[in-house]
Amino acid sequence: MTSIGERLQALHTRIHDAEIRAGRLPGSVQLLAVSKAHTADSIRAAFSAGQIRFGENYLQEALDKQLALQDLPIEWHFIGPIQSNKTQPIAHHFDWVHSVDRIKIAQRLAVARGDQLSPLNVCLQLNVSAEASKSGVDADGLIELATLVSHLPQLRLRGIMAIPAPTKDEAQQRAQFHRVRESFEQLKDKGFALDTLSMGMSDDFPAAIAEGANIIRVGSAIFGARPSVANTVNQH
Ligand SMILES: *Cc1c(COP(=O)(O)O)cnc(C)c1O
Repeated sequence: MTSIGERLQALHTRIHDAEIRAGRLPGSVQLLAVSKAHTADSIRAAFSAGQIRFGENYLQEALDKQLALQDLPIEWHFIGPIQSNKTQPIAHHFDWVHSVDRIKIAQRLAVARGDQLSPLNVCLQLNVSAEASKSGVDADGLIELATLVSHLPQLRLRGIMAIPAPTKDEAQQRAQFHRVRESFEQLKDKGFALDTLSMGMSDDFPAAIAEGANIIRVGSAIFGARPSVANTVNQH
């Protein structure tokens, strides 16, 4: 069996190759290790191999693992759907939230974060393929949401996250990521100071890197297949 450390090393080589092919600077793409449905011990193994950013989708599962790993200086990213009654612990226990898709959630995160902690880094989740996911703001509503979020001082608007419909066709992958990139550039043209384009997973990250991703969120290529229940993206 291949170890987590070996898979991480192989992944870094593939990320490097994709950066070079895309004419991008080596090291310009950050790896977020998506550890949902995997154990605290697996996270510890990845951390020992140099990985410091981890993404989780389910609050209670994440809190349990955070408790078991509190000796490690991990940077925690929340990437799952957000229920409004969970905003308080999410705002307190994560450094980043990638899945903000409506103003009510943003406002609740801001109030919960308060003024004592540093601003919570947030990405707006863009719905690029309505058939793949019910989560995410439509391209039409993106500027309005960005405007409202940017007026909340407890949040720091960093960029956009998207989960396009899975497809094996690389041209289709790129077309979807390209649309996300266009929305990202549009926001920047409107004056939003954004630096984060969070897109690409185990099966499509090279296409995402070709289209400008600078955070890719990779789970199974690091930790192996997920056990049954949490095996789908975005389930509630
Ligand atoms: C599970 C998940 C990932 C990682 O998916 P893999 O296919 O295992 O790489 C990335 N982003 C989100 C939002 C996820 O839910």
